[in-house]
Amino acid sequence: MNTHTLIDGKAAAARVLVQVRKDVDRLREQAIQPALAVILVGGDPASQVYVRNKILRAEEVGIRSVEHRLTTDTSTEQLLNLIASLNADRSIHGILLQLPLPAHIDELRALQAIDPDKDVDGFHSENVGGLSQGRAVLAPCTPSGCLYLLEQTCGDLRGKHAVVIGRSNIVGKPMAALLLQADCSVTVLHSRSPNPQALCRQADIVIAAVGRPRLIDASWLKPGAVVIDVGINRIDDDGRSRLVGDVDFDSALTQVAAITPVPGGVGPMTIAFLMKNTVTAALNQHQAQRSQSEAVCHSIY
Ligand code: NAD
Repeated sequence: MNTHTLIDGKAAAARVLVQVRKDVDRLREQAIQPALAVILVGGDPASQVYVRNKILRAEEVGIRSVEHRLTTDTSTEQLLNLIASLNADRSIHGILLQLPLPAHIDELRALQAIDPDKDVDGFHSENVGGLSQGRAVLAPCTPSGCLYLLEQTCGDLRGKHAVVIGRSNIVGKPMAALLLQADCSVTVLHSRSPNPQALCRQADIVIAAVGRPRLIDASWLKPGAVVIDVGINRIDDDGRSRLVGDVDFDSALTQVAAITPVPGGVGPMTIAFLMKNTVTAALNQHQAQRSQSEAVCHSIY
């Protein structure tokens, strides 16, 4: 019988949040209250749930959250004005713009307007570029969470062959960059890749970020592979609505050494790393302000 490990994202996220809570307490001792501004434009039901969960988690770890709910007819200029005021507000350390935005809003302009130091989602081109250069930047939360799970499961990732299925800016591309930084050999597959199964079957590590329910079954996997399933797909199962991943979980179990479930795998890690990024942003901003004031002192004396 094949033995496999279920990678418990809830437990891993709880461990990350314990450390975040300690970091928040240390910052508070220095009179710094980490704060996250969350902007939600329009009434998309899934986005409302995501925003509520993020705010709840922030409160649990002692991060102050400030919610800005804007109506669907908000213009790009109005959104940019709000972002500018949050950039200028020294009491706010992280700005999260919940996606997707209504179609009439210029998403790229809005994301680029966020101060890169407060860009806790890691979507600003300054942070995207920094990540691909291997610099320490605020990296996107979902792939950061996946990397953490892999490090906990596999230990040393050096020299492993990782296949990332999907090339989105939010998951696939930053995931590939993080795995390269961890010294993996990385293959990225996408909708135009011919015969993706054959390439995937060579992988020690598979990260599925496609958005197709149960696309990846045992025939895509090498025996002993470690699988991280990022997909969240709502399907109708005999009249019951439920969430499944991009991996056919039951079929994959016959091949894998370890796998994340859906739900309970990557999902909790995304929020945990949002909290971690907010605390990192608060710490970085505090240190930058301190060096600035030290520089002023030196110039006075
Ligand atoms: P996306 O639609 O932006 O990108 C999907 C990618 O899959 C594309 O790059 C496309 O080329 C590739 N693709 C499509 N069909 C393919 C095929 N047959 N073979 C190989 N590649 C194929 O999606 P996304 O934003 O990257 O999200 C992917 C999935 O991850 C979705 O289910 C989404 O809901 C989920 N997601 C989960 C979290 C989380 O916190 N767990 C966070 C973000 C996204």
